[in-house]
Amino acid sequence: METKVCIIGAGPGGATAALQLAQLGIECIVVDKAVFPRDKVCGDGLSGKVLTLLERIDKGIGERLQKAMFKMDSWGVTFVAPNRIGMDIPYKPDYQNNRSDPRGFVCKRIDFDNFLVDELKRRKEIRLFEGVSIDKYELKADGYYLSNKDETFQVKADIIIVANGAQSAFTKDVAGIKMEPEHYVAGIRAYYKGISDLHPDNFIELHFLKNMLPGYLWIFPLPNGEANVGVGMLSNSARNKKVNLKKLMLDTLATDPTMKDRFKNAELAGTIDGYGLPLGSKKRKLHGDRYMLVGDAGYLIDPFTGEGIGNALYSGRIAAQQAAAAIAANNFSAEFFNAYDENVYRILGPELQVSTKLQKLIKYPWLFNLLMKVGSRNKQLKDLMSCMFHEVDLRKKLGKPMFYVKLLFNR
Ligand SMILES: Cc1cc2nc3c(=O)[nH]c(=O)nc-3n(C[C@H](O)[C@H](O)[C@H](O)COP(=O)(O)OP(=O)(O)OC[C@H]3O[C@@H](n4cnc5c(N)ncnc54)[C@H](O)[C@@H]3O)c2cc1C
Repeated sequence: METKVCIIGAGPGGATAALQLAQLGIECIVVDKAVFPRDKVCGDGLSGKVLTLLERIDKGIGERLQKAMFKMDSWGVTFVAPNRIGMDIPYKPDYQNNRSDPRGFVCKRIDFDNFLVDELKRRKEIRLFEGVSIDKYELKADGYYLSNKDETFQVKADIIIVANGAQSAFTKDVAGIKMEPEHYVAGIRAYYKGISDLHPDNFIELHFLKNMLPGYLWIFPLPNGEANVGVGMLSNSARNKKVNLKKLMLDTLATDPTMKDRFKNAELAGTIDGYGLPLGSKKRKLHGDRYMLVGDAGYLIDPFTGEGIGNALYSGRIAAQQAAAAIAANNFSAEFFNAYDENVYRILGPELQVSTKLQKLIKYPWLFNLLMKVGSRNKQLKDLMSCMFHEVDLRKKLGKPMFYVKLLFNR
């Protein structure tokens, strides 16, 4: 088979690239080793970025997602500092008076990713192959030659969009990006039913508990009384401290004074599973001759929040636009794909930089404690943090030391 664009991976990054190409009238082949619906270990938290981007590609997709029954609308985040002071930050400051158009939600990846794959199946421009793993890739003068192990499946492509996730062999072997424990998080997640005291407006919860620093525990409410509960920690810290994340989480839920009450009647549904989060806390080269790396394959996860789905969508769309430009110019050189990196880092870079600074804050629990103490009583700070979900310029303030100095002395 031959195609102009082959996308490896039909997760959020790859699916978005395919949908954007289809909108531009460009045919593509998408190959995924899994057969959908398939699960993906994740916190299942989707920020406003996801809906915003899907709407940009096609309003219809946004409308169908808004109507979907498998998701739980969420109106904000609760941060809990190591000193146990919590702060509720709504995504929209006036959400209680304006319940239209929720932008954040939680939904199981098995449902969300399958929703996107169904969108791929609606488009005649997209040919999707499920249950096929791309294991061989050879760059020749006229294109990339891809195949599975036994070469029963073969594709020749002018351009490949590599969106095969955190364990991408292409990223390691061809792009030369290796896992660095200081830029990588180890995460586990479990599904629980029957946790008490969930927020009435389904705020997602991030608990920076003392025994977990520099990691944190999350509780993200799902439909049907379920919640996604997990722990994430920088891989170098987990290694240095020899932490067993699963044990740490189970012990914390059983013995921590707050958690033990909240989980008293909770039931674990299914198994506790782990996976890696490649962080965007370091800038990397995301392209080469005839290829671009998208989403987790390009190490684009937010280092503070652990959010990777939104960034996978953004990079997927930018890769599709760059592929369209390359086809129009008949230029598939690494030099031409420089523009892909420029656009990804122009759009996502400022946020990634601020989050890298905020991530370092977690190493200073006293500062974090103070911020929460002040913030829980300070409407100005709450409003500011609420706005920070929409405006990166405001997030930037949070990455500057002067912000904290002013805050503490202007109380
Ligand atoms: C514990 C944990 C919690 C997280 N919580 C959140 C959260 O709450 N919110 C959030 O936004 N992000 C979260 N993330 C990050 C998020 O899961 C990823 O950033 C996101 O899945 C990236 O999407 P992607 O399309 O790049 O890759 P993936 O979703 O990993 O998709 C890659 C696809 O490629 C396919 N594939 C792999 N290898 C091959 C191959 N050789 N050939 C063909 N196909 C292949 C796979 O089957 C898969 O379908 C979390 C991650 C972890 C591990």
